[in-house]
Amino acid sequence: MSYVSHLSCTLCHASYDLSPHLMTCPKCGEKGILEVVYDYAAMKEKINRHYFKNQPVFNMWRYAPLMSLETTDFSNTLSVGGTPHYRARSLEKIYDFKQCFLKDEGLNPTASLKDRASAVAVIKAKENNQTTIACASTGNAASSLAGNAARANLKTKIFVPKRSPSGKMAQLRAFGADIYSVDGDYKAAYQLSKAAIDHYGWYNRNAAINPHLIEGKKTVAYEIAEQMDFQPPDWVVLSVGDGCTIGGVYKGFKDLYEINLITKIPRLLGVQAEGCQPFVKAFNGKRDLEESDEDTIADTIAVGIPRNPIKGLNAVIMSHGDYLAVSDTAILKASKVLSNKEGIFAESAAAAALAGAIKARRNNIIKHDESLSIIISGNGLKDPNHLDKIIPAPTMMKNDLNALQKHLDQQKEANHE
Ligand SMILES: *Cc1c(COP(=O)(O)O)cnc(C)c1O
Ligand SMILES: [Zn+2]
Repeated sequence: MSYVSHLSCTLCHASYDLSPHLMTCPKCGEKGILEVVYDYAAMKEKINRHYFKNQPVFNMWRYAPLMSLETTDFSNTLSVGGTPHYRARSLEKIYDFKQCFLKDEGLNPTASLKDRASAVAVIKAKENNQTTIACASTGNAASSLAGNAARANLKTKIFVPKRSPSGKMAQLRAFGADIYSVDGDYKAAYQLSKAAIDHYGWYNRNAAINPHLIEGKKTVAYEIAEQMDFQPPDWVVLSVGDGCTIGGVYKGFKDLYEINLITKIPRLLGVQAEGCQPFVKAFNGKRDLEESDEDTIADTIAVGIPRNPIKGLNAVIMSHGDYLAVSDTAILKASKVLSNKEGIFAESAAAAALAGAIKARRNNIIKHDESLSIIISGNGLKDPNHLDKIIPAPTMMKNDLNALQKHLDQQKEANHE
């Protein structure tokens, strides 16, 4: 059963009944992003610690009753969620964090947090009897949609910008998506996808527009809370592009707070790249978002016109959090430390979150006695080319023990310098 009460417009606050075809507020148009509102009083009666203790499912469907779904059979889905939440003792030592955790979302079926939203999109399309589902994406939303849809026998139409990393494109092709490579940036791909979705009536997986996708993304917050025995950390740190993920993380903690499973909502730290920081500028200047350049190696968060400005800003404002930007150099450095010291290979957009946490600790935004959880949102194998900038490739040698000895001597020398 579902505890959904209604849909509410984030702009004009009009209420609507849950309806399969309603995506945005009819009065406000595309900017009128809808939010799923729950009957917390009813939810509270059933969803408690006891419920979770007796819940045998260990992927995101563990939380299905807290989402806006009618489906109860998830046998045709990939196993999304249930990712590890590691204590990061090396990072604690290096950066003077009191207690630091890493939520490794790169271990999802298509290797990013986007699977949580795509899994819901696929179910919603099926609930609406649609056979084709479409989106625009710089990579992860698309590759994750293609994978989750393949398992559910849905067709996918994907609009990608010119600059899309090789690993993500390989996933798209492998999963059998119809790919339309648009001559332009993400903005251009998004515009064409929207025109096509309107024209052909495909199901829309664009995360900002579709109110149900945040309901999938929020499960990462549920997991962090449950993995800490419902005593979440002081801060949760994550990178921000469109603003949907951070909106979802806030929603997840808010749900748990409203049903008395946690007593405080963690402060959210939103991290952007210096070359594309519309949220940081709007937050610091206390004004609306303005279009930004998309100049960063962190392709997934290179979003010049974020599609979810209200939820993305509110998440930080309501949680008394903060927004900051990090340089590409800091992202590469954080990426190297993360893989060298914790064994987690992250894509640049995910490493940006760690870079943000480090900067926040240095600036005393995160205090020495505060705990944090960093969401590592995607896997480094998606975009291995950046590695060359931080870690040199090995030199070739002959199949000969003497050659190896020479190499070892050189290495020793280099390390002693
Ligand atoms: C999509 C994505 C983000 C940012 O999520 P938004 O909803 O666009 O703010 C961060 N990291 C990775 C790896 C992503 O795929
Ligand atoms: Zn409205």
